[in-house]
Amino acid sequence: MDVFQMMGRHDHEQVVFCHEPEFGLKAIIAIHNTTLGPSLGGCRFYPYQNDEEGLYDVLRLSRGMTYKASIAGLNLGGGKAIIFGNPDTDKSEFLFRAFGRFVDGLGGRYITAEDVNTTVREMEWVRMETQYVTGISRALGGSGDPSPVTAFGVFVGIKAARKTKAGTEDLSGIKVAVQGVGHVGYNLCRYFHDAGVELYVSDINQERVERVVNEFDAKAVNGNEIHALDVDVFAPCALGAVLNDETIPEIKASIIGGAANNQLATSKEHGASLLKRNILYAPDYAINSGGLINVANELEGYNRERAFKQAEGIYDTLMEIFKMSVEEGIPTNQASDRLAEYRIQNVAKSKSFYTNSPRRVFKRR
Ligand code: NAD
Repeated sequence: MDVFQMMGRHDHEQVVFCHEPEFGLKAIIAIHNTTLGPSLGGCRFYPYQNDEEGLYDVLRLSRGMTYKASIAGLNLGGGKAIIFGNPDTDKSEFLFRAFGRFVDGLGGRYITAEDVNTTVREMEWVRMETQYVTGISRALGGSGDPSPVTAFGVFVGIKAARKTKAGTEDLSGIKVAVQGVGHVGYNLCRYFHDAGVELYVSDINQERVERVVNEFDAKAVNGNEIHALDVDVFAPCALGAVLNDETIPEIKASIIGGAANNQLATSKEHGASLLKRNILYAPDYAINSGGLINVANELEGYNRERAFKQAEGIYDTLMEIFKMSVEEGIPTNQASDRLAEYRIQNVAKSKSFYTNSPRRVFKRR
């Protein structure tokens, strides 16, 4: 494995390998780009098969965070951490505190948070060793569960898509299919129900389905069919890669927007295929950036109202993305990447203008 070659492919700034055998800690922190500010991104706990698989994942995820922070208008860069291990058996206070000391050693260049298989409790262990952690509980001055803010961002994003497609933000009477009614999906269904939407839902967890059926008059549908329903909006809120060669030809919705990360199986091919079919796709990392906006808010002293207000900006961001997509005839995911890169390039330029010192310039792919 050639680490520098892997870093060079997408211009990563720094990779830190963390090892503390006493507590079984083996972790990698990747910092992609800090032009806009300190890098922020969650810490994932996962039983990777080997070092290369872990490194590949953390490089990919940290780069994604650079784009997400930029499109959300935050003064943050992209970073991410992974810890190797079995989440059911290998977690301990000491392991997370050891990880926290490595984060602390970076002096604020990387700020960690929860991610897949890590929880608020573990971030509180990290907090015992470093201030560079977000997503701790409200009781300890943190921002708590980000899902309601993420759901709100997705909701306003769907309104922007509806405005673009139908000339109105009004969602009453339209049909929406929500795949996955967990933390974000449940809150999103509440917004849709209040807006008079006819809801269709699927989840592999039956109790969660029943909750939204009972509370929001949703209709439960087979998980294999949810993407293919004859509805106006398809909202993926469960898994990645749901927009692929098999599903896209079956999609009847004219709008796709949901919380799930990495919805396109391949960004180039499947983004283009949605454009060709005249389906308006709200790029995942733009429409689901409410969660990041929420934790970023914690850095300035958490204020729930301000976090919701900032998440409202997702509406204008998506309008800009949709406009660029039409004007330049490019898929929305590509328009979003361009806008995110444009912001980083210009901030880099303005910083070097005022300080008259050479700065790292963000390279476009
Ligand atoms: P969650 O685990 O609470 O909910 C996901 C739901 O999807 C669960 O109820 C699960 O049973 C269901 N599910 C799994 N496989 C499924 C399938 N094949 N078909 C239908 N349902 C299935 O997670 P969440 O916090 O609600 O996040 C949902 C998605 O949004 C994830 O991809 C997450 O990475 C992303 N996301 C979440 C946030 C946030 O604030 N929580 C922010 C940004 C992105």
